[in-house]
Amino acid sequence: MKTVYVDGKFLPWDKAVIPVDDLAVLRGYAVCDIIKTIGGNPYCLDAHIDRLLSSAEKVGLTPVWTKAEIKKIVFEVLEKNAPMDEANIRILVTGGSSPDFFSPADNPRLIVLVTDIPALPAQWYTKGVKVITFVQQRSIADAKATNYIPAVLALKKAKAQGAVEALYMTPDKMVLEGTTSNLFALVDGTLVTPEKGVLKGITRKTVLALGEKLFPVSEQDLSLDTLLSASELFITGTNKGIVPVIQVDDHIIGTGMPGPGTRALMSAMADQVGRSCNSPSVI
Ligand code: PLP
Repeated sequence: MKTVYVDGKFLPWDKAVIPVDDLAVLRGYAVCDIIKTIGGNPYCLDAHIDRLLSSAEKVGLTPVWTKAEIKKIVFEVLEKNAPMDEANIRILVTGGSSPDFFSPADNPRLIVLVTDIPALPAQWYTKGVKVITFVQQRSIADAKATNYIPAVLALKKAKAQGAVEALYMTPDKMVLEGTTSNLFALVDGTLVTPEKGVLKGITRKTVLALGEKLFPVSEQDLSLDTLLSASELFITGTNKGIVPVIQVDDHIIGTGMPGPGTRALMSAMADQVGRSCNSPSVI
């Protein structure tokens, strides 16, 4: 059974609990981050912890741990669950117990879990996937909060339509990101990704850095019309890497096959993940 860190203690999975008056339970008030281990090492750990701390700040949560303390706990959890070659580390900072069941009282809880990574079908990468559009905008988009209710609903709808991801879109049809992924399009030879209203993914940052070596790159607003006119599309995320998208709703993108630009980036990414995330050219 896996060992979990929760609020100062290392506990077996089935004994790891938080009080029911924690604002994470009562109000869905918590932030999180998900890291992938490669060969047992957390990939881009610094970048993920920086984002966790920045997410906490953006939602008004005061973390009481330094980055170094969180890192130490992550490595302890990994050690207690070794060997875990490829795993997810999930870090949560909860709102903490609240006397009035609403206002944070500066007593957040830290939780660190290690979980297995669900295997993704190989054909996602060789043949590409379908996604749907879903009108939704995340509030405080650049914070990774634990409230994924819209994501759960959107993904349920996507799956019912044979799609693997739902792309959030504003009511005036500007596309933003997926439920757990960022979005890239090759438009007239330029690699485009939305800049506003999205979580700044760690994978997105790596892809932007790799992409700059291959194409002109632009972080900009992206309308649905432009998206559908793209020659290539793909989504990115920690667990997914780069997944080619060949269909959006009923529209086929480009040739209906993963394109050469996406494949070039997938192979650049495969080379990159063996290296340090913190190499100056990337993060
Ligand atoms: N956008 C949202 C809303 C997400 O939840 C995620 C990851 O979970 C991403 C984008 C991709 O971010 P990353 O590349 O850091 O995994």
